[in-house]
Amino acid sequence: MNKIYDVIIIGAGPSGIGVATLLKQMNCKSYLILEKEEIGSSFLRWPDEMRFITPSFPAQGFGQTDLNAIVPKTSPAYTLDMEHPTGKAYSEYLELIAEHFMLPVEKGVQVNRIDKESDFFRIETTQGTYQSQYVVWAAGEYQYPDLQPFPGAEFGVHNSLISSWKDIEGNDFMVIGGYESGMDAAYHLARLGKRTTVIAKTNTWEIDNSDPSLALSTYTYGRIRHLLDSNLINIVGQTTVVQIEALSSGYNIYTSNDQVYFTNEKPIIATGFAGSTTQIENLVTRGLNHEVLVNESDETIATSGLFLAGPELRHTDHIFCYIYKFRQRFAVIAETIGNRLKLDLAILEDYKRENFYLKDLSMCGEECQC
Ligand SMILES: Cc1cc2nc3c(=O)[nH]c(=O)nc-3n(C[C@H](O)[C@H](O)[C@H](O)COP(=O)(O)OP(=O)(O)OC[C@H]3O[C@@H](n4cnc5c(N)ncnc54)[C@H](O)[C@@H]3O)c2cc1C
Repeated sequence: MNKIYDVIIIGAGPSGIGVATLLKQMNCKSYLILEKEEIGSSFLRWPDEMRFITPSFPAQGFGQTDLNAIVPKTSPAYTLDMEHPTGKAYSEYLELIAEHFMLPVEKGVQVNRIDKESDFFRIETTQGTYQSQYVVWAAGEYQYPDLQPFPGAEFGVHNSLISSWKDIEGNDFMVIGGYESGMDAAYHLARLGKRTTVIAKTNTWEIDNSDPSLALSTYTYGRIRHLLDSNLINIVGQTTVVQIEALSSGYNIYTSNDQVYFTNEKPIIATGFAGSTTQIENLVTRGLNHEVLVNESDETIATSGLFLAGPELRHTDHIFCYIYKFRQRFAVIAETIGNRLKLDLAILEDYKRENFYLKDLSMCGEECQC
């Protein structure tokens, strides 16, 4: 525990495994991944029925890597025989990558606190203190739901805490939140023959934007479109829930436009995640969208040597909340660390050729001609 590693990565999801794979290929000799549970544990928590929104397809032979791959020349579609992988299947893909590259993952090590002391980080964990020169924070969002988005939310159940929609008793539900999680919940409940009312602040299904970080994805819209005309899914749009009140017979849901909806069943809260960077608040500063402020190499502005990888990454209007987006920053982080540690950077040429390297963000933007 007195050893000072060159790099410690927190989290063995796609981001942590993705960055570690690059460090390995750059011949880094002194790095570790600390993982509180097991590889891909966020995906193992997905409801059994949930599937990737972004499709997987083995097109790597023609220079188009599978959208859900985290390493060039790999394909979840090919490995798993699935176009829209389940969480469990995707965690198997991550396991395979870690095994293939023989990545040093220490499982069952939960990071509780990180401090920077002069030139190195002290990382306090359930298994003792680790030290490193650089930290890559890759602990994701999924295991850090926002459980208190409004008063009374504790009377509901957050969608990330549901292991299977089959386990939910009742026939008539209220889902709060109209983005992917809320619509996915409504879709699976409808498939089980249950009625759902979705209360949505933003009409995501009507937004004229091709970015699935803003508008409902085409996959989800395609799944629910026919159900919107049935009596199984009812949508109340442009409505903000402000409170839930528990009654002896059920729950009252209050909205900002003075409507009250009653439901017998626990409301399903699908309003989003607080995110894991709440664990390192002492090391970061935040911008107008509450994003962690980072420089052009995804190194936090407040703490040099600390890098952010994964869905919480944001550069002004560019939101990196899908794998096909944030995977293109793994090489930018690895290049910066590699330069400072004088590692072999040759592998970066492969990543650039395979579209796994996006440095100039002025090139991206979500426009669609038709
Ligand atoms: C409903 C829903 C659907 C989605 N669908 C898609 C999709 O179709 N396509 C897509 O690209 N993305 C999708 N996403 C987003 C995707 O799940 C995330 O982008 C992805 O999981 C992020 O990867 P990550 O490695 O950054 O985080 P995670 O996968 O969450 O991995 C983080 C890891 O860190 C570990 N960890 C956390 N805290 C600590 C700690 N303190 N100490 C040690 N270890 C820790 C966790 O156990 C976990 O293994 C979806 C998300 C949701 C909520």
